[in-house]
Amino acid sequence: MAEILVLVDHVDGAVRKTTNELLTIARRIGEPSAVFIGSGAAPVEALAKFGAEKVYVVDDAEIKGYLVAPKAEVLQQIAATANPGAILISSSAEGKEIAARLAVKLESGVITDAVDVDANGVTTQSVFAGNYTVQAKVTKGTPIITVKPNAAAPEEVAGAGAAVPTAVTISDAAKTATIVASQPRQATGRPELTEAAIVVSGGRGTGGDFTAVEALADELGAAVGASRAAVDSGWKPHTFQVGQTGKVVSPQLYIANGISGAIQHRAGMQTSKTIVAVNKDEEAPMFELVDFGVVGDLHTVLPALVAEIKAR
Ligand code: FAD
Repeated sequence: MAEILVLVDHVDGAVRKTTNELLTIARRIGEPSAVFIGSGAAPVEALAKFGAEKVYVVDDAEIKGYLVAPKAEVLQQIAATANPGAILISSSAEGKEIAARLAVKLESGVITDAVDVDANGVTTQSVFAGNYTVQAKVTKGTPIITVKPNAAAPEEVAGAGAAVPTAVTISDAAKTATIVASQPRQATGRPELTEAAIVVSGGRGTGGDFTAVEALADELGAAVGASRAAVDSGWKPHTFQVGQTGKVVSPQLYIANGISGAIQHRAGMQTSKTIVAVNKDEEAPMFELVDFGVVGDLHTVLPALVAEIKAR
């Protein structure tokens, strides 16, 4: 069985859920190996729990300070010896840039934003604002595939991975001019928007008061999202925006509050497994899409919902 490389997406060694999803998908295609690029102890056990049989560990404090070019070089060098059957990367902005650079280096085909990958490496993508699905397969070189968060439910397996310390040479070209000053992300205590199992979003209908939206999100352990109208009004930063020009989410449950359901908003959330909307206009286009809809004022409906959840 071919080795399948999975680039580990982590924050200071804490493995993100998307990596566990990639390892789960990799097990369908072949034998998963994780590639951990960071400094300090590598999370070998955490990765083995989801099936990583090998963990290539590139322990280099310097890489952290650079943008993506060195990571593409690391994968290129590991691929040269491992000869993998595929390379899976999380579909973040960084992941897609790494994939593109790597594809050029390996002269391979690349597929981005897959929402599923089957045992034969055939990917499914959702295109044109989610109106069509496309099946595709890389036929040239080592398939490089970026996979969207929530494409698979992470499944644990019993097994013990082996750490493989890996020395790589990073070219000066990859290091120059790419050093960045990173700002620590503000801790909200809520899950990351694209990874969350539940997203509670607010739109113009909040009138700028997100108290009820955030109270419901916190009750459900959910992430908070926003429509572009809410972001353009300055009520939430752009990092909260869901949609065509914001983030694409695909949670188990998406609750849209005071959001009309414009096509550009739908593009970012319509693959959610269950969709609920609260809107005071029963004609709102969002109701065409929902599994459950409540016609009412969100400032009344959401506190009642929170009270009901608390009472249970
Ligand atoms: P509105 O359309 O104004 O809807 C507000 C809704 O709230 C209404 O349905 C109203 O009935 C309801 N409401 C009002 N008060 C209450 C209340 N008290 N309780 C309950 N319901 C209430 N939009 C995005 O969201 N994401 C994108 O990424 C995005 N990208 C875009 C890219 C382009 C190129 C363009 C042209 C547009 C884009 N848009 C995007 C904008 C999009 O077209 C809509 O304008 C936007 O989604 C509307 O946001 P909204 O639903 O919050 O506001």
